[in-house]
Parts: sequence; C-alpha cells; structure tokens
Amino acid sequence: MEKLALFGGNPVLNHAAMPEELFRWPIFTEEDEAAVLEVFRANKMSGNDITKEFEKEFAAWQQRKYAVACCNGTMSIYAAMFAVGLKAEDELICPTKTYWASCLSAQNLGVSVVFANVDPDTLCLDPDDLERCLSPRTKAIMAIHYKGYPCDMDRIMAFAKAHGLKVIEDVSHAQGGHYKGKMTGTFGDVAAMSLMSGKSFACGELGIAVTDDRRCYERLLAFLHYERNTEDEIHEPDLLPYLHLPLSGFKGRANQICTAVGRVQLKYYDERIKEIRRANNFFFNLIEGLPGLRCHRVDEADGSDMAGWYIPCVVYHAEELGGLDPEVFIKALTAETGFPFHLLGGNFPLHTHPVFQTYDALGLGKPSRIAFADRDVREADKELKRSENIVVIETPYFRRLLPAEITRYADAFKKVVAHANELLTLEHAPTNTGEAGQWHAAVR
Ligand SMILES: *Cc1c(COP(=O)(O)O)cnc(C)c1O
Repeated sequence: MEKLALFGGNPVLNHAAMPEELFRWPIFTEEDEAAVLEVFRANKMSGNDITKEFEKEFAAWQQRKYAVACCNGTMSIYAAMFAVGLKAEDELICPTKTYWASCLSAQNLGVSVVFANVDPDTLCLDPDDLERCLSPRTKAIMAIHYKGYPCDMDRIMAFAKAHGLKVIEDVSHAQGGHYKGKMTGTFGDVAAMSLMSGKSFACGELGIAVTDDRRCYERLLAFLHYERNTEDEIHEPDLLPYLHLPLSGFKGRANQICTAVGRVQLKYYDERIKEIRRANNFFFNLIEGLPGLRCHRVDEADGSDMAGWYIPCVVYHAEELGGLDPEVFIKALTAETGFPFHLLGGNFPLHTHPVFQTYDALGLGKPSRIAFADRDVREADKELKRSENIVVIETPYFRRLLPAEITRYADAFKKVVAHANELLTLEHAPTNTGEAGQWHAAVR
C-alpha cells in the first residue's frame, strides 16, 4: 500500500479541491433572500407578526400544541427551565458532555446542576447513571440528543415518571430527528432548541421552545416577553399579577428577519436533511468496522434517525490500534486529506470547567452551582472519569451524497488505520484541539 502522506507519500485527496456543494450549508435560495428583504423593507425586524406565523408552522411540524420563538437557543433553554418550574434549591440532572448552554443558565434560577455520565457509544445521557444522580431535590432531567443521536427516551421518560421529574429536551442538534419513529422534541414536558446558523436547522440567531402544556406555554411567554405577556395569552393565576414585564428580567424576543428565514427553511428542511443522512450513512457504511473507530450513528431499523446529523463523528479507541495517540492519528489523517481534523469533536466535559466548580455569579460567597444546595454536588463529579476519557474525532460533515468524493474520504481513514503500526513510533504531537469552552468543529 501507498506510503502515508505524513511520511512523504501521496495524499489520498485534497479537501480544498472538493466540490463546494459537498459541504454547502445552510441552503439559502432567492426565496430566503426575498423573505429577509420583505421584513427589512417593511421595517418589521422587531415585530411579532411573522414570528407568530413561524411559531404556528413550527408547532404543527413539531407535532406540539405550542411554540415560543426567542432570540437564541440559550435563552429558550433558560426559559424551558423556568417553564417546568425549576427554582432555587432544585437539582437538574444534565449529561456532562454537551454545550454549556444546556445547563449553565440554571445558576440564575438557584438550581444546582448534577452531571451525569454519557454513554461512550451514543454520547448521550447514560440512563444507567440516573439513579446515582438522584436526590430528594432532583426536579428535572435535561435530555440532549447529542450530535443528532436520539437519546434513550424510553428509559429517561420511565425514570422521570417513576420519580416525578420533569423532562426538558435540548433538541439543538436534532431538529426533525426521530426516536423509534417518534419525533425528537415530542417527548419532554418542554423541548427547547437553537436554530442558529451553525445548526442543521439554521436561521441566524434564533431559538424556540415547544410544549403541549398550556401552563408551560404561558410561563415561556411570561418569562421571555413583555408585549406578549398580556391578558390575551396569560391565564395562570400566579402569573396574572405580573403582566407586561418579562419575568426573567431579560428581553427574549426573536428578530423577525430570522423567523422569516425559519418559515422558508421549514418548507424544505425534512427533504434536505434526508440527503444529509444518505450522504453520512454512505460514508459510515464504508468505514464501519475499522479497528479503533466506532461510528456515532443510531440503528435506523426501529425508526430512529440522526436528524440533520449535526457534526458527525467517530469515537476513537486507541487500544484497538496498539495504543496509538489520537493526536498522531488525526495528524496522519489531516496529511492524507487536507481536512482539518479535530480532537474533541464536540464538547469537553462541562464539570471540568471552573465556572461549574468555583464561579460565584451572584456574589453569595459560594460557587453558584451549590449556592442553594443542601449538599456539595461537585463531590459527585468524581464519578465522571469515564466521560472525561472519551475521545471523539469529528468526520467531514457531508451535505450531499456524492459517492465518488465521499469514498475518497473513507479511503483516507482506511489508509491511516492500515498504517497505524508505523505511527506508533511518533511522539505525542499536540495539534488543533481548540480552545476550552468552544465547540470544536472544523470549518471549511
Ligand atoms: C448551540 C447549542 C445551544 C445554544 O444555542 P444558541 O442558539 O447558540 O444560544 C444549546 N444547546 C446545545 C446542545 C447547543 O449545541
């Protein structure tokens, strides 16, 4: 076999010369442009009329009674926490490997985050770890369909039911996905998500929360809005004395340029992500079973799928490649392709960041994470070592099924795996692992 590019052989491909449509996303057309211009020319950026139309259409698509759009996904998750009734002294169970916005705003409600392990294959909340995280103060579970992989909703919902807990789904990676034939975002008491431009459902800066529960819906509106926090919408007696001001203290209204884009994107979204799934399944079929690499994808046989496959990846198992340092592995892969492979293709375990250990946001003389707790939930972070040790390598995020081109990326993986022995002699070589706290994604 051809010598590795790292040792002077010919690279398998040149990523920079690949067809642009292989990776182009989001797909914006003249229809999106026209929708934006209409809002802009009418000076309706700050209105609510287009947003309400988007909410209606989104709720119908999401098979939920109510949808409330807001300025970004972070805010939608914060509002969802309030909507299900999370408050000071409560505990929220959240997997440690996710984007910080899944749980960081809990500190503003006086809620303590208890981190759970993720399953090393699905990268989603490990249901076997829920019991360990439970306490008399546990109020809710944050379920994240991580990188499009639908989490084990059967077990999460059963556990929540058995213990009287609320479930919030963070669908930021999995809009339009399915778990056993049922749409992601239809399981929890409320589902919240980001629709910012980097996600598979991409509208600019936008978030949305959906629910079937009228009380949750009213709490979302009251928390995020002032003009919509009115007698017309709000009937819950405990909210009625506080109309007209947003109960979060923040203005969460969506920009209508983004919701106008959302209306257009929604029409084509399901079709477009089907193509993404075809392309990435094609790639993963080619590399499936290679030693050292576990494809991060769900078995579709039961009606589950990977939604828009937000940032595909493999989980790296060095022990199957003679202990090969993953940084050396990705260095060799990058040399074969010109694709900027990253380690930590995803998020670092959140509990390792000082903001969850020592930061005192409210000046109460205690870390915010435990400011209202009756126990030091940080002690339990010791049980999270197995989540810390997971090594994820993102794979190219194909948006079009171009079989010849995708096959060459797979060939690069096969070549490096076949030559893994020769790489064992190389020194540990730190590469582009990114900044702590950031989403580690390669950009084209
Ligand atoms: C992106 C993201 C968010 C936050 O959404 P923004 O729109 O960026 O505020 C929340 N949770 C997860 C899992 C995300 O990936």
